[in-house]
Parts: sequence; structure tokens; C-alpha cells
Amino acid sequence: MKKVLFIFGTRPEIIKLAPVIKAADGEGLRAVVLHTGQHREIADEMLRLFQIHPDINLDVMRSNQTLFSLTSRILENFERVFNAEKYDMIVVQGDTTSAFLGALAGYYSKTPVAHVEAGLRSNDKFSPFPEEINRRLAGSLTDLHFPPTELSRKNLLKEGVNPKNIHVTGNTVIDALLWALKLPYEAPDALKPVFKSGKKIILVTSHRRESFGEPQRRVFKALLEIVEFVENSMVLFPVHPNPNVIKEVSEILKNHSRIHLCSPLGYLDFIHAMEKSELVLSDSGGVQEEAPSLKKPVLVLRDVTERPEGLDSGALKLVGTDDEKIFSEAVKLLTDKGAYAEMTKNPNPYGDGRASLRIIKSIKLFLDE
Ligand code: UDP
Repeated sequence: MKKVLFIFGTRPEIIKLAPVIKAADGEGLRAVVLHTGQHREIADEMLRLFQIHPDINLDVMRSNQTLFSLTSRILENFERVFNAEKYDMIVVQGDTTSAFLGALAGYYSKTPVAHVEAGLRSNDKFSPFPEEINRRLAGSLTDLHFPPTELSRKNLLKEGVNPKNIHVTGNTVIDALLWALKLPYEAPDALKPVFKSGKKIILVTSHRRESFGEPQRRVFKALLEIVEFVENSMVLFPVHPNPNVIKEVSEILKNHSRIHLCSPLGYLDFIHAMEKSELVLSDSGGVQEEAPSLKKPVLVLRDVTERPEGLDSGALKLVGTDDEKIFSEAVKLLTDKGAYAEMTKNPNPYGDGRASLRIIKSIKLFLDE
């Protein structure tokens, strides 16, 4: 049985690799799972939900870690892992430090590398930071590229990747979403008042490094203005555990009856919250990809995006961190049915829920060659 090592470390990687790992098991590959521990607590909930039990657990997370220290710690740990065992292939996902270093470890150990969610490009070295460069570096070490869309395939072709090694699959985040929405669900007590409020819920996530400080304060100011202006609206904001974010949120948004702040939600709670929302404001990559499947418009709190397909299909709108723009676009969507329908009429450009199987079939063909 061919042995495939799946490497992940953060919440979005777990969500996006879980369906691929399940597909590998179902298709006769031996999936070995390595968790770097880059995210720990929020990752554990996902692992339980997807019933994934990592075979190798590294514990690289430290408080106040820098990119330098994180990078060297992960790489040192990988050396031990790759000295201990040989794999037929390594699979990494996306744009994290774990993904880039997983691909690098594959290269150092002369193990073929597959890259899931390959080829997205913002073409801005520092936005998203350091993800844009992580994804490029992972790509340059990759043997088998799995771009989610035709556009991401073209990005790889422009960079000289051999077309034979590129397979467009759709994004596995949609596989995970469609699977998880079928699971039984009951809202926790803390969310029931929000879900039953009868208000139009505005779901917010904001955690990008580029936005910390003044830009994020502008976003929060806009949120206050929106709920004040649209009386039947309510903000639901799971706050990222980063201390920078928590500080600003507490200063600006605390104690408003129609702003519900909470810790990061479990994946099931989050996708059900999205389903019950009217509108999503987010700087998250995964959320931009998921929301169109639930027919929810997204105002993207970033100046550039490596996911322009949703802009073209109408499902996303870039509003950056300009408070006036965020306010006017959000109010428009909350009050103008025509504008709302325009953003929700097209199918999701990011996937159809069958990406994982395509990926595993390509990996099997590659390994059998
Ligand atoms: N998500 C979650 N709980 C939350 C916020 C987000 O489970 O409170 C999920 C969401 O459904 C999406 C993923 O986390 O699949 C996005 O992760 P994140 O925003 O951390 O990373 P990015 O997508 O920007 O890389």
C-alpha cells in the first residue's frame, strides 16, 4: 500500500485536507497524518469533528512566537520525521508556514510533493503576509499541483509549470462544507439568542496581520455605524484569539446590545451561523470560498485578493478597510433586495464538492506511473 503523508497545522488546512484524507482511506492509500500544532486548541475541535487522529503530533506552538522561530522549529522537527520513515508522497495544503515547510522537507528528502489549493496569487508580496510567498514557495517545490479553479491553473502555467502536472479540482473546502452541513446540529445556548433574534445577522471575521491597528479600528467603527443605522440588524463576531484583535475589539465594540462578540466558533457552529446570516464581512480566505455555496454575499475586508473568481461571479465585493465604503455597501445589501439578488444569483466558482476524489485519483495515477 502506498504511504501518503498529509501535513497540516492550522484550522483552514484541517478543514480543507479532512475530506482528502477521508478519500485517500476510501481509495486504498495509506494516509499518515502529521499535525504540526501551529494552531492547537481550535484545531482539536476540528479533528474531533472530522474524526482524524494524527499519527504524528508536533508541538511547535509557543506564545509570542515569531515567523523566524516557528519556521526553524517546524523544520527541525520535520528532519526527525523524515529520517524516521520514508513516504511515497507528501500532501500539503494552501499557504501556511506548515505547507511551505512540508514541501521543503519533501524536497530535501526527495519525496514527491502534492500541493492542494495551488496557484492562487494576489501578486502582492506582502498581502497576504506571509501567505502569498508561502504558497509560491510551496508551489516551486511541488510535483503535482491541484489548483481549485481555471484561473489558478493559468497562474501556474504563466510561471512555467508543466501542464501535465496540473489538475484543476475545485476547492476541497466545499467538500467539507457540504459534508458537515448534513450532520445533525443543535445550536449551543450561547448562540440561540442570536439565531432566534429575528434580526438580519451580519457575520464578521477579521484576523489578517495586514489589518492590525488603524485599518482594523476603521472596520470596527463601520460595524457600529451599520448596526446603529439598520435597526433590524445584528453583528455576530467570533473574535480571533490574537491579542491585537482582542484589544481593539474590546475597546470599540463591547457593550452594544446588537453586537454579539464570542470566541472562535467550532466549525459546525460557524457554518450554521453563516447559513443563518444575511451578510458576511470577512478577511478570511476560506470564508470567501464557502459563503457563495450558501448564497451569502461577502464584503471582503482586504485591499487585494488571491481569490478574484468570486469578484467576477458577483459573490464577493472588495471593500478593504475603508469605513465609509464598508458602511455604504453593507447598508445597501441589508436594505436593497435587487443589490442582494445580484450578488447571490450565480453558482459558487470555487467548487462543486467533489474536489477530494479528483485529487486522490490523480495522486494514485501519479504513484502508479
Ligand atoms: N471558521 C470556523 N470558526 C470561526 C471562523 C472560521 O470554523 O470562528 C472556519 C471557516 O468555516 C473556514 C475557516 O475556518 O473554513 C477559515 O479559517 P481562517 O479564516 O482562519 O483562515 P483562512 O481561510 O483565511 O486561511
